Amino acid sequence: MNLRHILWPDVDTGLWNDWRWQYKNRLKGAEGLFKLSTLLQKDLSHLSHVIKTYRWASTPYYISLIQDKNLLQDPIGRQIIPSPHEIQKQSYPQLSLDPLKERLYSPVPGLIHRYKDRVVLLASGICASYCRHCNRKRTWKKPEHLSLTKHALNKVKAYLDANPEIREVIISGGDPLLLPFKSIKRVLSVMRSIPTIEVIRIGTRVPVVLPMRITDRLCRLLHKNRPIWINTHFNHPREVTKEASGAIEKIQLAGIPVSNQTVLLKGINDNHDVLKSLFCKLQSIMVRPYYLFQCDQVCGTLHFWVPLSKGIEIMESMWGDTGGMCIPNFVADLPEGYGKARLLPSQILDMEDGKEAIFFTYDKKIVKIHL
Ligand code: SF4
Repeated sequence: MNLRHILWPDVDTGLWNDWRWQYKNRLKGAEGLFKLSTLLQKDLSHLSHVIKTYRWASTPYYISLIQDKNLLQDPIGRQIIPSPHEIQKQSYPQLSLDPLKERLYSPVPGLIHRYKDRVVLLASGICASYCRHCNRKRTWKKPEHLSLTKHALNKVKAYLDANPEIREVIISGGDPLLLPFKSIKRVLSVMRSIPTIEVIRIGTRVPVVLPMRITDRLCRLLHKNRPIWINTHFNHPREVTKEASGAIEKIQLAGIPVSNQTVLLKGINDNHDVLKSLFCKLQSIMVRPYYLFQCDQVCGTLHFWVPLSKGIEIMESMWGDTGGMCIPNFVADLPEGYGKARLLPSQILDMEDGKEAIFFTYDKKIVKIHL
């Protein structure tokens, strides 16, 4: 099935590769759902009440990566097509829309200060494509808004000036690379004007869902504001397309290292072969697999959760099966704001300092080593 030819048969390559066209022609809301349903001759009307609670939009490019007409069976479709499960009464009554307590750790609007030396700046309220597993679904209840106001940015700057122990700002959202060029420039220049901010990290899914957004102009801006790190969000090997790889290469040629955060998602990537293929593909385009996240316990995402033990089993099976550069840290962001916890089990079974340690090897042998 080639969805590009079914849904956008008359769009020429020039337009298709123009990020503004892609953004403007996102399928979104009830109208987009209707168009999808008509062209695919599938009844999607049962999803209209889901998108009243959690908004829906995605780019033609990303939608065109879906290969299975049964949209929720496809690893790309499952990430973006709303599911009735999102609004089903949850079996865990304690589920929250903000289990990480981000609002509690927000000293000024738009800023999250949980760890001592770094903060998250929520610079944008929009995404090119809304991932159904997103842990900030709470923000989707408001209308899409572009960026922090100048006034809010000034408050953020005042807070960062007053807290010199903060050395790193993680610019996130929504997707900060969807902001208008001058807003991105403003945010970066404000961050660069604070002498204690050493490093800027940008969290973006644009290389995955709208790779055309990575323009030469944007790369020049990023280059000028180094040191910058980009952290992106590939979840499945089919996302590592020619277009996505091209976008990543442009960023890298601008002198910006790229790493990746994957979320472990039921029915999408919860098995050894898919994850191994994803991490190896990322390594081959020089993107470091940085984190594999246990899906956060956010209301409306229960259908994506994978048992902890299964995640550990998959990661254990990868150790020794592929190189360490292809194996990310497996972590959970603990509810109630307790921060990240590493989940990969230790391979040390017992040890006595200066004498010996007993290890469980990658190929399941138990060995005693004098260290
Ligand atoms: S791109 Fe990031 S912020 Fe946007 S919906 Fe996906 S996970 Fe959430």
